[in-house]
Amino acid sequence: MIQHTNATHGSNLGIDAQALWSDLMQTARFGGTPKGGIRRLTLTAEDKLVRDWFVQTCEELGCTVTHDSMGNQFARRAGQDNSLPPITIGSHLDTQPTGGKFDGILGVLGGLAVLRALHRAGYVTRHPIELINWTNEEGSRFTPPMMCSGVFTGVFTEQEVLDKRDRAGLRFGDELEAIGYRGSEPCGQHPVTAYFELHIEQGPILEAEGKTIGIVTGVQGARWYEVTVRGKDAHAGSTPMPMRHDALLAAARMIEAVSTVAVSHAPSAVGTVGLIENRPNSNNVVPGEVFFTIDMRDPDDAVVAQMEEELYSLLPEIAQRSGVTLEIVRIWDAPAVHFDPACVDMVETAAADSGYGARRIVSGPGHDAAYMARITPTAMIFVPCADGLSHNEAESITEQDAEAGAGILLKTVLKADAVFNAR
Ligand SMILES: [Zn+2]
Repeated sequence: MIQHTNATHGSNLGIDAQALWSDLMQTARFGGTPKGGIRRLTLTAEDKLVRDWFVQTCEELGCTVTHDSMGNQFARRAGQDNSLPPITIGSHLDTQPTGGKFDGILGVLGGLAVLRALHRAGYVTRHPIELINWTNEEGSRFTPPMMCSGVFTGVFTEQEVLDKRDRAGLRFGDELEAIGYRGSEPCGQHPVTAYFELHIEQGPILEAEGKTIGIVTGVQGARWYEVTVRGKDAHAGSTPMPMRHDALLAAARMIEAVSTVAVSHAPSAVGTVGLIENRPNSNNVVPGEVFFTIDMRDPDDAVVAQMEEELYSLLPEIAQRSGVTLEIVRIWDAPAVHFDPACVDMVETAAADSGYGARRIVSGPGHDAAYMARITPTAMIFVPCADGLSHNEAESITEQDAEAGAGILLKTVLKADAVFNAR
C-alpha cells in the first residue's frame, strides 16, 4: 500500500495509503453512527472535534492553521516564495444527518495526505500550499449548501449567513462563536493561485465503466421550481368522474411530463419531482390541492432553458385538460460551471501518467469548487463510490481508489506549482 515514504529524497513523493485510510476511519468516530455512517452537522460539538483534530494533525505536519470569519480553516505549508498566493486544495468535513464517511471528507483528508507526502519527502513547493476545510458545505442544518465558500467568493454576504437560523432557531453566528471558530480574518480576503478538489463521484458512472478517475470538467446547470395545483375537494363516493377537479390526478400527469421532458433531452438531462404534498390527503376525498417541486439539470444551460420552455407549455396544457389551476415559480437558477481548461488538462495528464482508467465527467451535485471557479482557476477529481451511493450511511469506497485520488491530487498540485506564476 505504501508507495514511497523516503524522507531523504524529494523525488520520492507518494501517498501513504495506510495513513490516509487510518485518518478516514479515525475521524469517522466524530459523530459516528451505529450503521457505520457519520452524523456531523455543521457547527455542532462533533464538528468542533473534527476541526480540532484537523488543526493538531496539520500542525504535526509543519503547517500553520488559521480560520477566517466564517470558520473556514486553512492549513498552510510554506513554499519557496511565500509572496505567491497559495495553491489551494480542499473540501468539507461536515456531513448530512445520515451521511457517509467519504462525502467531502475524502477531499480534506486526501489533501492532508498530499501535505504528508510533501512533508515526509522534505519537498518544498514554489507556492505555499493550503488545505481548506469549508464550513457548512452540506446546507443541512443551515441552508443553503456551500454557504461559506459562497461568502468567500462573494456569492453571499457575511451578514446574511451569520443571521441564518437552524430549525431550532439557533443563529449561525452564535453557533460559530460557541465552537470557537469565528476568526478575525475577513472571509474572502485571502488571495489564491488555483483550487483543486478531490471528491467521491456520488453517482454510478465511473463504477459502471470500470474507471478509477473522473476528470471533472464542470458542474451542470440546475433550476428548481415550486408548483401548486388547485382543484376542488369533493366526496369520493358521490362526485361523478366527469365532474371532478382532481388536483392529484393533474399533478400525476405533470410529474409524468417532467420525466418525459428530461428523457427527450437524453442522455445528459435529468428531471426530478422529489417532494409532494397532497391535501387534504384523505382516502375518501378527491384531492383539492397539491404542492410539488421540480429539479431540472443539464450540463448545457441552453438545454435547461429549453426544458423550462417545454415545462411552461406542457404543464398549463395539462392543468386545463384536468380542470385545475396551476401556479409555477422558479425558485433557484444555478448556471452550469465550466472548470479552467488548463487545470482540467493537468488532472487528465496526471491520470494518464499514472496509468489509471479515467474519463471526463460533469458533476451532477454542486461542490465548493463550483463557487471557487468564479474567482480562481479550478478543477476537480472524482473517484468511484459503491453503487453510486452517497448522502447515505452505507456510502463506501475502496482503499485503492482513495489512494489513487489523493495521488492524482498530489501530481496535479505539483504540476500547477510548476505552471502558475512561472517566470
Ligand atoms: Zn460533498
